[in-house]
Amino acid sequence: MKYIFGPVPSRRLGLSLGVDLLPPKTCNMNCIYCELGPGKGTVCDIREYTPLSDIQAEIRHVCLEEPRDFDCLTFTASGEPTLYSRLGELILFARDVCGGRPIVVLTNAGLVHRKDVRDALAQADFVLPSLDAVTGAVFRRINRPDPCIKLNDVIKGLVLLRQKMKGRMWLEILLVQGINDSDQEIMALKKALAVIGPDRVQLNTVVRPPAEAFAKPVARRRMEEIKDMLGENAEIIVDYSRKLREGAPLMLESEILDMLRRRPLSIQDMKKLFGGYRGIDELLARLMDNGVIARKRMGNQDFYCMFHDSPIDMAAAS
Ligand code: SF4
Repeated sequence: MKYIFGPVPSRRLGLSLGVDLLPPKTCNMNCIYCELGPGKGTVCDIREYTPLSDIQAEIRHVCLEEPRDFDCLTFTASGEPTLYSRLGELILFARDVCGGRPIVVLTNAGLVHRKDVRDALAQADFVLPSLDAVTGAVFRRINRPDPCIKLNDVIKGLVLLRQKMKGRMWLEILLVQGINDSDQEIMALKKALAVIGPDRVQLNTVVRPPAEAFAKPVARRRMEEIKDMLGENAEIIVDYSRKLREGAPLMLESEILDMLRRRPLSIQDMKKLFGGYRGIDELLARLMDNGVIARKRMGNQDFYCMFHDSPIDMAAAS
């Protein structure tokens, strides 16, 4: 299989069989958190990057000739699926041959201002667009869009798509520490979401190695606050306990630093809270080597604290 992968278990979608429509990192954005790496630049050409008939042959194979077990078929890409000019035809084809299983499309929404793109997406059962920011400077900083993309067009396009589509729209916001997680940006997003009207708002953060090392995850406590600010249909889709258990280093680091910013932790506290997680000793050693945290003695106990915490701050430890 060249274009189809999985099925992969997904918290949101069940067993999802993926269809990858584009060559590696073909995208009209270059997000700082992108797990495909920095890429070689953005593109805006909508075309048939891979032959339609080749992708159809693979879909036919996994749905009819040697049927695989899956819950939904997800059009995704090593980049932005709506750059594939024949996406609409593929959605209709997949619906025909895959026995009515839900068709899902992931998109960065950069092209939804185009009617042909909206027409294609409106045929899916689920559209999962991203919208990480609604103020120009933050949008440019986090998503680094191609000049062909204008933020106002994205928002207007999402409004029109929501009006047109009969399926569900689950809109994802990926939050990056210090970039799009301020109260101001969240309130602006809230206003835009009220106009767009997605069925769900799903909050995510950086859990895999990002294109840029400065793209850090938002700690769970702040994610909860943001979810509460956004209202009832917002949910957090990061499985923190699983990510931490699996030793996702960025996530673990963010949780530890979040705790240490509030108060120092004794070695015993640290063991109790994080001792079961893979890679914890290496992570603490690295944070100390890099001068981010320190180990200080207070009374007859050793504490971890932020490197710049003064002895007065250490009093909070007791
Ligand atoms: S839209 Fe997706 S594929 Fe494109 S740069 Fe952003 S994260 Fe990567």
